[in-house]
Amino acid sequence: MVLAQLGGSISRAIQQMSNATIIDEKALNECLNEITRALLQADVQFKLVRDMQSNIKKIVNLEDLAAGHNKRKIIQQAIFNELCKMLDPGKPSFTPKKGKTSVVMFVGLQGSGKTTTCTKYAYYHQKKGWKPALVCADTFRAGAFDQLKQNATKAKIPFYGSYMESDPVKIAVEGVERFKEENCDLIIVDTSGRHKQEAALFEEMRQVSEATKPDLVIFVMDSSIGQAAFDQAQAFKQSVAVGAVIVTKMDGHAKGGGALSAVAATKSPVIFIGTGEHMDEFEIFDVKPFVSRLLGMGDWSGFMDKIHEVVPMDQQPELMQKLAEGTFTLRIMYEQFQNILKMGPIGQVFSMLPGFSSELMPKGSEKESQSKLKRYMTMMDSMTDAELDSTNPKIMNESRIMRIARGSGHQLRQVMDLLEEYKRLAKIWSKMKGGFKMSKKGDMNM
Ligand code: GDP
Repeated sequence: MVLAQLGGSISRAIQQMSNATIIDEKALNECLNEITRALLQADVQFKLVRDMQSNIKKIVNLEDLAAGHNKRKIIQQAIFNELCKMLDPGKPSFTPKKGKTSVVMFVGLQGSGKTTTCTKYAYYHQKKGWKPALVCADTFRAGAFDQLKQNATKAKIPFYGSYMESDPVKIAVEGVERFKEENCDLIIVDTSGRHKQEAALFEEMRQVSEATKPDLVIFVMDSSIGQAAFDQAQAFKQSVAVGAVIVTKMDGHAKGGGALSAVAATKSPVIFIGTGEHMDEFEIFDVKPFVSRLLGMGDWSGFMDKIHEVVPMDQQPELMQKLAEGTFTLRIMYEQFQNILKMGPIGQVFSMLPGFSSELMPKGSEKESQSKLKRYMTMMDSMTDAELDSTNPKIMNESRIMRIARGSGHQLRQVMDLLEEYKRLAKIWSKMKGGFKMSKKGDMNM
């Protein structure tokens, strides 16, 4: 996703500033100008970017900072906080409660991924123990009901719709009633989309909303709509009480900055992002881990949740201890690769780890990346205990490298690649030293 490029540009701007001999007004301005450029290129609305720049300048008053203050850290933290503020409207959205009926209505333009997202949302909650149901109140697009039906059947989620009825309000009301009677606790209503914002769409949406009284209206937005995001989101918000946003197609080439604009326009949080066409390519969206990830720091809280899911309980304290010490041996890397291979959609897990995301595991090349990990592990199988547990990279002299290459049936170059990868990760992980507990809360450790 191009958001990764945005993160890269921001990190580079911060790095360049850090490299300056003195951090003065000029260095700060250059850094902020770079960040402004990157955000505008990523389609973030101009006003938001301008506000962010002036807020940072207000917070970071270089003259008032006494000598000895870590200016770099203060500036980084201010940038991190401002990016979080852009994505956090300050109030959480309604969250459905298990066992208590909630109606959630989806709105958005045609093609935004609304129907797909309805099913993803239902599937996500079903896996967590909810009893969801889908209602197709899109009578405008031929084939909408079929699509919903197909997706719902695949996910074994009850659905309601009609080929004959043309009144979306009637279908929505009937569907909601039916599923209330069936004690479903999450009733999801998919509404019509149109190619562009038009009065008829908004009127229909308003009527469906009035008749079904949703607890939450979710605005679904395609991440590639660019600068139009702000106006589009605002138009929807003015017609129905949008309470949350889901941004789709974050896996594509979209610049993604529109997400920031949609939050500003609707004053509603982004709650999930769509990262592919499949049902499980759907991620919960948390601001702080997202911004950490954007800035290349890895999403520790997401990663920790996954670790708790897959690493046996008795091995967890030891692993945490080692990571907190910043000790990163080849054996730890081996164990992490093992865990990663165990952990379901591999791409998603990878992108949570600092340093693992773009370089080792670019999105869209999961298969190749898996075989790369397996290849690395085969080479590590030919290492001795001393090599695996050493914290001194110099132990890997030429004769050891030749032995590992021969033993594992690989070329010298491939073993060198593995060791380079290890060095790169060890460097990143050592920087995270002690940051584990902090990061669990989602704070950024810089
Ligand atoms: P609707 O008209 O808004 O209901 O949109 P659909 O749900 O029919 O989706 C339009 C297209 O976008 C379909 O081909 C979906 O498979 C695709 N799509 C939806 N969400 C995502 C996503 O997160 N990533 C990708 N790559 N494609 C998506």
